[in-house]
Amino acid sequence: MKNILIITTLLWLLNYKFFLSLFTTVSSSYAVLYEIIVYFIILLFLLTLFSWNKIANAIFINILLVISVIGLYFINTMGIVIDGNMLNNVLSTDSSEAFELLDINFYIYVFVCFALLYLLNIKVILKQNSLPLKKYLTYIFAILIVFFGFYKIDRVVFDDFMTDDTPNVAPLFMIPAITDYIIMQKRSVDINKKNISNEYQLNSDSNDTIVVFVLGESARGDRFGINGYYKNTTPNFTNNENLISFKNATSCDTSTLNSIPCLLTRDTHDEYDNVIRENSFVEIYKDLGYETYWFSRNSDQKRIKNFCQEAAVCKYEHDLDYDGELLPQLNEILKNQNNKLIVLHTLGSHIDYNERVPQKYQIFKPLCNVGVSSCEKEKLDNSYDNTIYYTDIFLTKIMDMLKDKKACIIYTSDHGESLGEKSLGIVKRFGHSTPYNVAPKEQTTVPFILWFSDKYLQSKSLDLEKMRKLEDISHDNIFDTVLGCGYISKIKGKTLNICDK
Ligand SMILES: [Zn+2]
Repeated sequence: MKNILIITTLLWLLNYKFFLSLFTTVSSSYAVLYEIIVYFIILLFLLTLFSWNKIANAIFINILLVISVIGLYFINTMGIVIDGNMLNNVLSTDSSEAFELLDINFYIYVFVCFALLYLLNIKVILKQNSLPLKKYLTYIFAILIVFFGFYKIDRVVFDDFMTDDTPNVAPLFMIPAITDYIIMQKRSVDINKKNISNEYQLNSDSNDTIVVFVLGESARGDRFGINGYYKNTTPNFTNNENLISFKNATSCDTSTLNSIPCLLTRDTHDEYDNVIRENSFVEIYKDLGYETYWFSRNSDQKRIKNFCQEAAVCKYEHDLDYDGELLPQLNEILKNQNNKLIVLHTLGSHIDYNERVPQKYQIFKPLCNVGVSSCEKEKLDNSYDNTIYYTDIFLTKIMDMLKDKKACIIYTSDHGESLGEKSLGIVKRFGHSTPYNVAPKEQTTVPFILWFSDKYLQSKSLDLEKMRKLEDISHDNIFDTVLGCGYISKIKGKTLNICDK
C-alpha cells in the first residue's frame, strides 16, 4: 500500500499544471482545494482497485501509467485539453503528421516519468502476494468512505465537480474522452443528409460566373498584415481594391472535423451540435446547374470527404508538396466558359509550418526547426508567418487567373492556431482544438476575405466601402455568402449573405 500511495502522489503531483489552471478559472480557492483533494482520492481508488493481483497490476496499472505520462506531456507542455475531440484528431490524422508535433523532449519526458513510476510499481508487483484479499477490501472500503465523506462536507461543490465533463487530469481524462470519441465515431458513420437544394434558386444574370471557395487550415486572422499585424505578411492584399478582409471574423469551432461541417452547411455556431443534417452549398450549386469541383490537400476523413463527394469532381491531391501546385488544375478547368464552383481545400498553415512553404517564399527568418513547444517564440512566429505570406501569394495567383472573368473568391480558414501564448495565465498553448467555451481567441479568430473581379463588379452593384465596415462577421456568414456570389438565393426566409447586408 505504501508504494501505491507513493505512485498516486507522484501522478497527482504531475498534474500540477491543470490544478494551477483551476485557480484562475474557479473563483473560490476553497472549491479548488476541495477538487484537488477529491482528485487524489479518485486516483488512489483507481490504482488500489487494479492492484488486487499481479496480473491485473502488471497489465492495467502500467497501461494507465503510459497513457498518463503521454497525456501529461501534452497537457503540461502544450496546454492541450484531452477530450473526445482531441482523441478524434489524433486518431484520424495520419501518424506522420502526429509525429511532426513531437521532438526529443517528448521522448525524454515520457521515458523519465514512466521509468520512475514503473520502478515503483515493480516493487508493488513483486510484493503482491503479501496483500491478502481481506486487506485489499479494507483499503478499498476505507477509500470509499473518505470519498463519500467529502460528498458530505460540501454537497454543492461536490456536485459541480462531478458534472465537469473535461477533467484534464491524467489518467481520468480517458473516461470522458473515450466516451465522447465513441459517440463522435457513431455520428460520423451516420451521415444522413437532407437535400435542401429545392429551397434555393438561381437568379438571372448568373451566366459565366466562377466562384472559388478557398478553405484554409489553421490560419489566424490576426497574423494577416491587412488585418493590422505588425509584419507585412500580406503585401499583395493590402493594395488590392477589389478585396475585403474582415478583421475579427470568428470560427464555428476550433477543430477541423467540427468546424468544416458547420461552415459548409446552413447550421450556425449556435445551432450546431456536431451532427451533419443537411447538404452543403456544394450540392446546391451542383443541383442548380453549376459545374462543381473540389480539390483537396487536406483531410479525407469521412466527415469532410462526404462534402467533397457532393461535387461532380472530388479529387484528393496528397502527393503534391505545396498548395500552389493545385493551380495548374484550376487553370485547366477555367478554359471553358460554363458556370463553376471550385473548392480548394488547402493545407495552409498546418503544422509543420516550414513544410507548407517553398523555400523562396520563406521570407521571415530565422526559422523554428524543432518541435513547437521547444522553439523560441520569435522563430516559431517566423515559421508560422511564412505560411500566411505564402497564402497571400497563393490567393493572389488565383486572382490573376480570374481577373478577366466574372469571378469571386471567398477565403477563410477552418480555425485559428495557438503559438505558445499563455492562456488562463498559466498554460502556454500550441495548436488548436481547445474546447470552444474555453478556447483562446488565437484559435477562434480566422481570416475572412472576399475578392471580386472587375467584370463581376460591373454585373452586380456592390457597395464595397459599406461592406468593409461590417462587424460581427463569422463562419455563420459563409454558407449564404458563397451561394450569393453565384447568384443563388434562398426562395423564402432570411439570409446571412454579407453582400446583401
Ligand atoms: Zn484544421
